[in-house]
Amino acid sequence: MAEKTKPEPCPFCADDRVSVEGAAGLWWVFCGNPFCGASGPDRRTRRDAIERWNDAPRDRSLVSSDAR
Ligand SMILES: [Zn+2]
Repeated sequence: MAEKTKPEPCPFCADDRVSVEGAAGLWWVFCGNPFCGASGPDRRTRRDAIERWNDAPRDRSLVSSDAR
């Protein structure tokens, strides 16, 4: 019934201020921590974007900019 479409806290900084963004038919999850700013991969659906984010191991390939 209830879909698990809530993003987990950020795998990089553990902040829970994550939001789901969408534009031009693509969706991705974005970390709202200004010191982190990680974003997940773009997917065609909101749900898929969230699943990818939730599945994310602590994998540096997901981080667009290196914090250090
Ligand atoms: Zn983060």
